[in-house]
Amino acid sequence: MTATKAVAASRAGGGEVTALLPHRLHLSPPHLTGGELDALRRTLESGWVAPAGPVPEAFEEAIAAATGFPHVLAVTSGTAALHLAYRCLGLGPGDEIWAPTLTFVATIAPAVQMGATPRFLDVTPESWTLDPGLLGRELSAAAARGKLPRVVVSVGLYGQSCDLDAILAVCNRWGVPVVSDSAETLGAFYRGRHAGRGARFTALSFNGNKIVTAGGGGALCSEDPLLIARARHLATQAKEPAPHYQHETTGYSYGLSSVLAAVGLAQIAMLEQRVAARRAIFERYAAAFAELPGVSMMPEPPWGRSSRWLSVALFDPEAFGADRDTVRQALAAAGIESRPVWKPLHLQPAFRDAPAVGGAVAARLFERGLCLPSGSAMTEAEQAVVIDVVRRCCGRRFR
Ligand SMILES: *Cc1c(COP(=O)(O)O)cnc(C)c1O
Repeated sequence: MTATKAVAASRAGGGEVTALLPHRLHLSPPHLTGGELDALRRTLESGWVAPAGPVPEAFEEAIAAATGFPHVLAVTSGTAALHLAYRCLGLGPGDEIWAPTLTFVATIAPAVQMGATPRFLDVTPESWTLDPGLLGRELSAAAARGKLPRVVVSVGLYGQSCDLDAILAVCNRWGVPVVSDSAETLGAFYRGRHAGRGARFTALSFNGNKIVTAGGGGALCSEDPLLIARARHLATQAKEPAPHYQHETTGYSYGLSSVLAAVGLAQIAMLEQRVAARRAIFERYAAAFAELPGVSMMPEPPWGRSSRWLSVALFDPEAFGADRDTVRQALAAAGIESRPVWKPLHLQPAFRDAPAVGGAVAARLFERGLCLPSGSAMTEAEQAVVIDVVRRCCGRRFR
């Protein structure tokens, strides 16, 4: 059965969800280009399959070309990239690392595993990203008590860059380095440059659900060649140049396999088309929901162009007549995956002891926000089913 037929498939009565899909519709599945197989075959035939050599190098060059970052290190995951950044900045036990509370756990997990203490700050309603005003005030207070953070990590959310210049300005005042977690903002722009440019380090992700994928992988980027050289040394077991492998310190096995880099190379060539497709999906949701009461879409501040990695809608239960979870369950019943906005980290049991500054904005977004299917391969007919299910929730009694 085609998706178009599925849209027509409906059953009457009871105001129940009526649309059906012939298959589950996922939030953000990988979108293969068809070029992956050729790239893989060439890589396998060349014999260069290790996490080193010409293919990872070519992938790094392609990332640099797509983003403008002059120095790029391909690694096994976005989380590994963040770990390396924190290690290069000397993060350790007794240090604080500050992060927005509204993000995926991977932003902070490596830092906590290194013994650092997180402090979570609220986001702004205009961007859903780290509040630079709040950050500035907190940094002044921290300087006064003589305990500045070792690192501030800023995060791009659902394709949207944070206000990086404002964050850099307040951090530079106190000499605190900024790491940009841009795992969700590959292909996004901020004041005319790629998201994350200007931070000390920027981490990207090529996980399967991101805008383009290597089948797993990440990259660490910087404007500074020495920082990337140091990270590369640590990512490849910190081998000193001696025939017997001398070690001044210990590193990690974080090099990206040539096999995965080949997939990444085929994928990143399509980045601009993928951004365009995701933005079109967002616009179709926005247009369809404009006529529904109590539904609003994630805003886009004037400072940049979001990649719209995920389309996120907010449901005001009073005005819409159904809450976020009613919508989520109606979608699930129709075979459609959707997901609440990230649960703020200050509300996660894993961080119950971590200090938090504010958090009400993030908590409200979590309460009302739903990430809708956003895969760039999704057809308009499939999206029409999603829209139909949401529309039918409007006015339903909730709970
Ligand atoms: C996906 C993601 C990561 C982690 O990337 P992996 O490649 O899956 O390790 C880190 N931070 C954020 C905000 C993410 O969305």
